[in-house]
Amino acid sequence: MNFILKNSQFLQIIIILIATIISCTFISNAPEKSSAQIQNPRKSTDHDFSYFESLNKPIFKSKNQSSSSSSSNSYSNSLIEKKIENDCSVWSRACGEEILEMATKPENVKWIKSIRRKIHENPELAFEEHETSALIRKELDELQVKYRFPLAKTGIRAMIGTGKPPFVAIRADMDALPIQEAVEWEHKSKNAGKMHACGHDAHSAMLLGAARILKARENHLKGTVILIFQPAEEAGNGAKRMIKDGALENVEAIFAMHISHLIPTAVIGSRSGPLLAGCGFFKAVITGELADPILAASSSVISLQGIVSRESNPLDSQVVSVTFLNNGDDDVDVRAKKVEFGGTLRAFSNTSFNLLLKRIEEIIIAQAKVYKCSATVDFFKNSDTIYPPMVNDDRMYQHVQNSVIDLVGPTGFRVAQPVMGAEDFSFYSEIIPAAFFYIGIKNETLGSIHSPHSPHFMIDENALPIGAATHAAIAERYLNKH
Ligand SMILES: [Zn+2]
Ligand SMILES: [Zn+2]
Repeated sequence: MNFILKNSQFLQIIIILIATIISCTFISNAPEKSSAQIQNPRKSTDHDFSYFESLNKPIFKSKNQSSSSSSSNSYSNSLIEKKIENDCSVWSRACGEEILEMATKPENVKWIKSIRRKIHENPELAFEEHETSALIRKELDELQVKYRFPLAKTGIRAMIGTGKPPFVAIRADMDALPIQEAVEWEHKSKNAGKMHACGHDAHSAMLLGAARILKARENHLKGTVILIFQPAEEAGNGAKRMIKDGALENVEAIFAMHISHLIPTAVIGSRSGPLLAGCGFFKAVITGELADPILAASSSVISLQGIVSRESNPLDSQVVSVTFLNNGDDDVDVRAKKVEFGGTLRAFSNTSFNLLLKRIEEIIIAQAKVYKCSATVDFFKNSDTIYPPMVNDDRMYQHVQNSVIDLVGPTGFRVAQPVMGAEDFSFYSEIIPAAFFYIGIKNETLGSIHSPHSPHFMIDENALPIGAATHAAIAERYLNKH
């Protein structure tokens, strides 16, 4: 972000913005609790663990499968060696049951937690995810999953299935944040000042978990699953670079999951249409040799407040916030000749977002003119600071909902509310039908209640196997249905 280098104060503001607003979700590292603690979640009032407690007993039975035959399914230690009893030539809930059973095997749960913990201990920032990427590739090698590397410097495009259409993609992000972890636990970050405080360690682990399940079920896949491990979601628009490097080649639909501290552990949440806002920044410079740029800037700031409050549709949520203003020094006896200020804008549609861009520029230039000053406004359109809105395709959203209900039952899914955060997954959604969804990690008993980008952020790791199963079910079911 070149504008950052020109102004230390703006840098500070942008860092705070990025750390607190821009991205999306939340994670935390849940110190292992005793089984008694885990098995006594009913102390919390808004947790529905009814389906979660039944993970070891499939909820749905296929027509041809009695309760006893289902429970008698036995798997070897390796998922790859597992014998699959349903051929799943036509998708049924029994296929979901099998996937869930594979994911929640104790050996698999232990493995997926260990992957997440290794990544958590070694957080790496945007485009520096070298060891994280190496760890993922090592696991893919062991699973005998083919992949292409590198894309976008550290990114990976793995492939499971027939190698033929249809191609469906699942994406995880790998980067961490410049935050010092405040959670004291066995697997705390070993890199000072860096932390997986947004759950991308869990995202990578869950996608690897899906790879393991899908590889074991490769003979059932009626097409190809592409697994995208992406760098630089928090900064740098890694998604754009991945697309440029061919991540979406042949892919007709894509899905991604983010952890959420607002949803109980392992519950999936999403919605059709707008889910996350488009996000951008602006910086204005007002100059005036014989006038007062401070007065012009002050008037501009007040006038900008009128865009959302007086011009936009109140049912179409938008944000324009000025987050810094300065004239470069603190000399109280000299009139300023130049004032800089800037902030952020958010909207849930490209139309509203573009209108905000237009009005912000018009207002600042007009207000400068009122006070005999001149102004320039920069939206950094050529940098990596603009994120489009994340709008879920209705068919893909329905697919997620149906897949989750097949997997864990209706109590495992809820409609999520849109939020003003942003996600670079929206770049994929501008090209092909996409759906973004959340997986809950909220568990008051464990303390996984903190928002993402908090140094206290931690997750309930019991969500991990369910996340892996959800990815696998969404992908396999998509290939089966298309
Ligand atoms: Zn984030
Ligand atoms: Zn995130």
